[in-house]
Amino acid sequence: MKIRLAAPITTGSIVDGPGLRAVIWTQGCPHHCKGCHNPQTHSFEGGSEVEVRDIILKISGLKLHKGITISGGEPLEQAAACGEIAKHVKAMGMDVWIYTGYIFEDIIKKCEVARPEWKQLLNYCDVMVDGPFIEQKKNLLLKFRGSENQRLIDVRKSLEEGKVVLYVEKNFFSD
Ligand code: SF4
Repeated sequence: MKIRLAAPITTGSIVDGPGLRAVIWTQGCPHHCKGCHNPQTHSFEGGSEVEVRDIILKISGLKLHKGITISGGEPLEQAAACGEIAKHVKAMGMDVWIYTGYIFEDIIKKCEVARPEWKQLLNYCDVMVDGPFIEQKKNLLLKFRGSENQRLIDVRKSLEEGKVVLYVEKNFFSD
């Protein structure tokens, strides 16, 4: 299985979620948010294709990393490949964060019928940062997100409770 990436995996990131993280930059995004910082990721023909197994292998060799963050671009447009990566990463004992321009409630509605691969992916995600970037709601003080409409969602609890449960950051010593 292949995935189209906008750039090589970033390792050692400390700004894309808690702890040391590897970031996967998917290529292709249908949202076209005004003010997007990564417009080069919008084309579905851009970037380059990479074997999913090579990504998993690379992540398995990382030391001291707490997890991965799947960003983009729009990861949900390549949900099957992202789900395969996330499944293996969870099996390694790492956590999975994902950024999407879609709204969590819409994802839940669609994944039951139209996009079953979204559900598969969600099953391996810990935190989802949802919603498009809205320039008028941009706030540089926000942690891990760009605009105030975006939410940090605890995916597991949200699926269990059937409603959006926001992610509460644990302090360093309890994590
Ligand atoms: S969803 Fe993300 S990558 Fe896509 S246009 Fe919006 S900010 Fe850019």
